[in-house]
Formats: sequence, structure tokens, C-alpha cells
Amino acid sequence: MTETIEAPAAVKQITHWIGGRRVAGESGRSGPVYNPATGRQTGEVAFATVEEVDRAVQAAKEAFVEWRQMSLAKRAELFFRIRELVHERREEVARILTAEHGKVLSDALGEVTRGLEVIEFCCGIPTLLKSEYSEQASTGIDVYSIRQPLGVVAGITPFNFPAMVPMWMWAPALATGNTFVLKPSEKDPSASLWTAELLKEAGVPDGVFNVVMGDKVAVDAVLEHPDIAAVSFVGSTPIARYVYETATARGKRCQALGGAKNHMIVLPDADIDMAADAAVSAAYGSAGERCMAISQVVAVGSAADPLIDAIKERIPKVKVGDGLDPSSEMGPLVTREHRDRVASYVENASDEGATVLVDGREGAPEDGFFLRPSLLDDVKPGMKAYEDEIFGPVLGVTRVDTYDEAVRLVNENPYGNGTAIFTRDGGVAREFQFSVQAGMVGINVPIPVPVAYYSFGGWKASLFGDRHIYGPEGIDFYTRGKVVTSRWPDPATSKVDLGFPQTR
Ligand code: NAD
Repeated sequence: MTETIEAPAAVKQITHWIGGRRVAGESGRSGPVYNPATGRQTGEVAFATVEEVDRAVQAAKEAFVEWRQMSLAKRAELFFRIRELVHERREEVARILTAEHGKVLSDALGEVTRGLEVIEFCCGIPTLLKSEYSEQASTGIDVYSIRQPLGVVAGITPFNFPAMVPMWMWAPALATGNTFVLKPSEKDPSASLWTAELLKEAGVPDGVFNVVMGDKVAVDAVLEHPDIAAVSFVGSTPIARYVYETATARGKRCQALGGAKNHMIVLPDADIDMAADAAVSAAYGSAGERCMAISQVVAVGSAADPLIDAIKERIPKVKVGDGLDPSSEMGPLVTREHRDRVASYVENASDEGATVLVDGREGAPEDGFFLRPSLLDDVKPGMKAYEDEIFGPVLGVTRVDTYDEAVRLVNENPYGNGTAIFTRDGGVAREFQFSVQAGMVGINVPIPVPVAYYSFGGWKASLFGDRHIYGPEGIDFYTRGKVVTSRWPDPATSKVDLGFPQTR
């Protein structure tokens, strides 16, 4: 009998990107990257040393000299080219996201599309950098303001949006004339290298965009580096707080977006089917690994029973499987450890006094890091299932008697990222909008991620810093103001030129 031995699937080496090319890591330290749908390791990502981070910063520092000279017209043209390339090749990067994060391909494409909107916004950089001018502020004196880039800026990003969240940062940072060092999540780093190659192909000069892979060593090197002027961070709250405190203590500008526990209030007058569709989509989409996922429904009065029935009816229909299978609606979780941690909340829910209505540990595909959707009833403040950001496909329901109790729960929660209310009563919805303590509010909209020409950010422990990310606040974050007071004794510099005026 001949025995066939299956060759181990190749594990690709995932490098840094410094000065316009791939650079192999020299630290000897690295981390595994998995395909969460199979559970198999597919990559090995290098972890940067302090020296390697320094090399990336030096490349960015050198590139800044030329990059900030580029005219707005040319920079806008380049951004249109980047936009076209990302649009043309979005399926390619979506496949990379699915292969390393696990989210289903349609959701990965959705991620790229939302990131593209930020790039499109940045195509308007000439308009976005227009400033103010006061003629004759004093006799013969004009005063005007300009906004200039900061220099080398850095981004540190989470695993859950490996393409979009970096786009929230590098697009406005580059458009405003900064150069960039990205430290992506070590769990799904390949999309960053894809981005680096695409930017090079679009014509972004070497050194303008750099990627250092790694863990805490690389993050600390970024936070300590004297030549990095600003740090954008997106990730969990404890690390966001640490990054904000460390970066600002070293004189850097910092925006650090943290975790979330997004509550969705459902009033008795709501369209219950619509609310149930929204809750299921927002709780289980991307396996609940979204900072804007709904993780807690607050059902007011008589809304609770019909709403829970409607959610329960929908859960068995959610198709869980490999993200590359077009019939899958929900993929696996990112790692085995994370899957097990999420499952532990379901396991302990009854001991805490909650009721497990649907147990997602049952019936999940066996290979890979899968769970099915779980639904917990009678979840209350004080329970771990209520207090913690579970970041998985576990939806809790809290029952309250009144709207006032519901909104108090949202306002007393330490997080304040997103929240939503489902009602037909415009007056209550307006009161909610007025008094709720959260940065992004949905009215009959479960995932109110702002469009690219607004800015994204939470309140309380969901954001450290005073500027939200992307949109107008992103432009503001990556620039600093200068006010010029000017007087011209003789403005007689002129020449004849009959050509149609061109941008130069
Ligand atoms: P994470 O905080 O573990 O990691 C984020 C980044 O910090 C990664 O690049 C990681 O390498 C680095 N990091 C991790 N531990 C570190 C440490 N001890 N010291 C220094 N750096 C460290 O977050 P994650 O698990 O990758 O992502 C999920 C979290 O991100 C969730 O809490 C989610 O809510 C949050 N998130 C928030 C938003 C938002 O906009 N508010 C968006 C997406 C994700």
C-alpha cells in the first residue's frame, strides 16, 4: 500500500515595508497568522525592533521634505489614482481580509467600500485645506490662516478592520502632506502590505507610507520616538488609554479610539420585525467583531417578548461558514483564544443569573474558530456578560419598564461609542438624540457609522483625545494652524501671460 503524505501548506513570511520596499525582519521574533476558517497557520509575521521602527521613521522623515512640497493639485490627482486602483482591486484585498480575519467576502468588500469613501473625501483636499483671510484687518494689513502638516505621523490599528481603519488614518494624513508609519494588527497584517504596494503603484513616493509589523515593542517604539508628531490609535480601551497617556506625555498629538458596548433601545411602538432584523444584523455581522456592533438590546416594557421571539426565529437562519463560500453570512472569529474567550461568556451566563436562549457553541463548524450566534436574556448590570465588551456573536437582552430606565443604562455605561433607538415616536427619538451620552447615535439605524464627510468617534472610554477620526476632524488632527499677519509696501510684481491659467 502506498501512503500519501500531505505536504504542509506553505507559511508565507510577512515583512515590514520601509522606504518603498519589503524589508525582512531582523529581530528573530515573529507571530503566527491563521486562516480562521480552517484553523491552519498561513503566515508568520515579523515583529519589529526599536531600530527597525526607527528606520521606518527615518524613511518617513526624509520623504516628508519633498512630499509636503507637492501642490494640492498634484496631491488631489494622486488621490484620484489611488481611489481608482483601490476600486479596481477591491476584490483582491477583500480576499486577503477574509483569509486572515475570517469575515465573509461580501462584508470584506463592504469594509473596503467604506474605506474608499474616506479616500474619496480626501480627493477634495484642495477644498478641505482652504483657510480664512481678513483683508484690511488693520490699515494696509491682511491676516490669514493656513494649515500645515505635522511631519511624520503614526497609526496603530486593530484586527477587526485591517484595511478600512488604516484608511481612516493614512488617507487624511497623506492628503494633508504628512508621511506615515503604520503598525497594523499582528493578527491579520497582509492587507497593510497590499496597501503599501498599491500606493507605490499609484505613484506615492518611497518613504511616504511605511509599515512596521509587530507587538508591544513596536508600539512602544512608536510612542517613544521623538520624530513622530502624532499617533492615531484604534483598538481596545485599556490599550487606547495607555497609548493616549504615553503619547501625550511625550508631547505628541494623539487620538485613541477604544472599545464599546453598544446598546440598542427598542420601545413598544417600534416596528418589531424591523428592530429584530436590525438587532440580528448588527449583533452577528462580522461575528460581532465590530466596534459598532450591537451587543446589548434594551427592551422596554411590552417590546421584550415579541422582540425576543422575532430574534430567536431569525437566528437559526444565519448561515455560518467559511467567508469565501458565497452562501455564508457569518464567518469564524479571528483566533482560537478569542473564540474560546467569547464562548466562556455563554458558558458562565446562567451562573450569573442570565438565561441562555440560544447557545452558539452548539452546531458551529468544527474546523476553524467558529461559533454560532448566541442570545442571552435577563442580562443585567453587574454581570460580566453585561459589563465586558465580549466582541463576538453574543447578544444580550436587558428588560426595563420605561424609556427613562433604558436611556439611564446607556448613559451610565462607561463606553459611549454607538447607540441606537427603535421607535416610531419622533418626540422620544429627539429626546434620545438630545440627552444620550454617546458619540454616534442611530434612530432606527443600528450601526450609525458616520459617512466620510462627518467624523467617527465615541465618547467616554471609547475615545481618548479631543478629535474624532476621518472627515473634517481628521483633517484638523493631521494639520496645525498658522496665522500670518502681512503688509506689502509695493505689490508691483506682474508679467504678461496670455495662456489659459493652469494649476502649478
Ligand atoms: P487591541 O487593543 O488588542 O490591539 C490594537 C493594537 O494595539 C494592535 O495593533 C496591537 O498590536 C496593539 N497592542 C495590543 N496589545 C498591546 C499592548 N499591551 N501594548 C501596546 N500595544 C498593544 O485591539 P484588537 O483586539 O486588535 O481590536 C479589537 C478592539 O478594538 C475592540 O475593543 C474594539 O472595540 C476596538 N475597536 C474600536 C474601534 C473604534 O472606532 N472605537 C474600531 C475598531 C475596533
